[in-house]
Amino acid sequence: MTDAPSPPDDDVPWDDEPPYDPFYDAPLPADRAASPVTATAAGVALPAHSTPIEALNKVFGYNSFRGEQAAIIDQVVAGGDALVLMPTGGGKSLCYQIPALVRHGTGVVISPLIALMQDQVDALTAVGVRAAFLNSTQSGDERLRVETAYIAGQLDLLYLAPERLGVPSTVDLLDRGTISLFAIDEAHCVSQWGHDFRPDYLRLSVLHEKWPTVPRIALTATATELTHKEITARLDLGDAKHFVASFDRPNIQYRIEPKTQPLQQLLTLLRTEHPGDAGIVYCLSRASVEKTAQFLVDQGITALPYHAGLDSRVRAANQSRFLREDGVVMVATIAFGMGIDKPDVRFVAHLDLPKSVEGYYQETGRAGRDGLPSTAWLAYGLQDVVQQRRMIDQSEGDDAHRRRLGTHLDAMLALCETIECRRVQLLAYFGQASSACGNCDTCLTPPESVDGTIPAQKLLSTIVRLQRERNQRFGAGHLIDILLGKTTPRTTQYGHDKLSTWGLGTELVEQEWRGVVRQLLAQGLLGTSSDGYGTLVITDSSADVLTGARTVSLRKEPERVAKVKKSKAAIDLPADSFDLFEKLRAWRADEAREQGVPAYIVFGDATLRGIAISRPSSLAELGTISGIGERKLEQYGDALLRVVAA
Ligand code: ADP
Ligand code: ZN
Repeated sequence: MTDAPSPPDDDVPWDDEPPYDPFYDAPLPADRAASPVTATAAGVALPAHSTPIEALNKVFGYNSFRGEQAAIIDQVVAGGDALVLMPTGGGKSLCYQIPALVRHGTGVVISPLIALMQDQVDALTAVGVRAAFLNSTQSGDERLRVETAYIAGQLDLLYLAPERLGVPSTVDLLDRGTISLFAIDEAHCVSQWGHDFRPDYLRLSVLHEKWPTVPRIALTATATELTHKEITARLDLGDAKHFVASFDRPNIQYRIEPKTQPLQQLLTLLRTEHPGDAGIVYCLSRASVEKTAQFLVDQGITALPYHAGLDSRVRAANQSRFLREDGVVMVATIAFGMGIDKPDVRFVAHLDLPKSVEGYYQETGRAGRDGLPSTAWLAYGLQDVVQQRRMIDQSEGDDAHRRRLGTHLDAMLALCETIECRRVQLLAYFGQASSACGNCDTCLTPPESVDGTIPAQKLLSTIVRLQRERNQRFGAGHLIDILLGKTTPRTTQYGHDKLSTWGLGTELVEQEWRGVVRQLLAQGLLGTSSDGYGTLVITDSSADVLTGARTVSLRKEPERVAKVKKSKAAIDLPADSFDLFEKLRAWRADEAREQGVPAYIVFGDATLRGIAISRPSSLAELGTISGIGERKLEQYGDALLRVVAA
């Protein structure tokens, strides 16, 4: 065996998140926890026997349904079951909220996102819907108020944490009111092999057994065939109507670039393309979350950390600032983000390779829910591949489990190394065909495919020599030193300057060699040893490359020139509307602060843009703008007209 394996370069301590993230149970920040049940006070502006389109116009202020919303709503309103697979930002919420308004009784929504229930209820209350929630963060008094309102038929929507269904009194309670429908949000949580399994979700089959005539609608943004099947089976939705939307998010620009100086690369992205924008930066370890957040703060950027190792109050406070303030950058592990429905997240950056395409898609999907242009950016390097392969080798579980992890990783690597359109490949992973998008890095600056057979042979034969002749194994850094003929204490110590491949690879620079190693790993033409050091070893397929029986094509990075974009506000906004838009944003910020709610609960950016462009001069004109329903018109109409007139 090896006498001196080189440890992987720039290693980061690994720190996996616990399987059930405490995020779900994070207490609300102090100022929100005590907020009263406003639901019964609100009163809905909708007369009895309204139609779905009336509810859409009057309550939510939108003109028309999107995609399959109308069909889904009709199915549930008619009393049928539905399973809805729709990407983040697709508009899933209305699919159960509107049937709950139109049907008699209360819509019961099962959601794992305890920390976000207050925001969900606030957003509904703001448009005049009578909504409330029941979860473990409430006092007995608060719960009692909600229960009483439910029994009295005064709630349109009731949000429930899944674990409440394990409490017999909850089932009794539900029995004492009238249920119009069950909505099972984040339905992929029922999938044991998925990325967010929640044991409490297995209880949900009880709903159908106990209330067989109440329609159920299950919703998720997770799109793989496997998850789809598992949800169907576990929730007994075989007879339901299945709605699978297109998973394309055309407003998100997908970009994946080689990692050289990750923090500097990130900073360039933020400074040139997203100054002042809200965004999420994902890192794999808690340590790198802390380091990255501190780096950004030192550069004058408002950045906050979020990971499972932080005190739950700090986590809740940081989340709350991210949602409420404009332009906060959240640096987080994957523990952050599910259910965050902040619509104006302008970028999602990954500083480490996600473990699967599914995870990548979920995480990047948090950008641009409002449909405005957004960026999904990933920096990916050799070390990511080595580290993830090592993680898989060392992971607990049987071989089948490890194979599954390996398959996930391979698909992610294939996405990183493709020279085809990223979006085409991403959608193909979810079984959806598409054509080149024009809005991803490979479409915008096409990389070349070059013949890399000779460099591959040089690298592989170096490894073979060391392994066969000397029984030594090394990491990429040392192997590249040999190929470049770079004298180091180690090359001297081992006499590696005597190898026949010494200095044979000067046609490439170090960075390019790292790209070769990375891509050979991604293609399975090179492996990592399972000794825990991630040293490089040949694989069964390497032999074909060495004999010349197989050629190797490699991705050649194109030159990329950073385009400086204007701030988000300026996108698509005529110059003469810009000032008004900024005034409206300032007004919104004051209003949100006064009420203690996120700005988007007052109005989304899209609505403010609509006002800035059309400059309405009457309440009637204002009411035609998308996102202004009856209640908001009544509450904010005069104030908005004053801002426009000034
Ligand atoms: P999802 O839950 O699928 O991620 P949401 O339900 O949060 O998506 O909807 C995303 C955004 O789109 C929200 O801001 C929502 O108000 C808006 N939206 C949904 N349906 C419509 C519609 N028919 N017209 C206009 N805006 C809509
Ligand atoms: Zn593309």
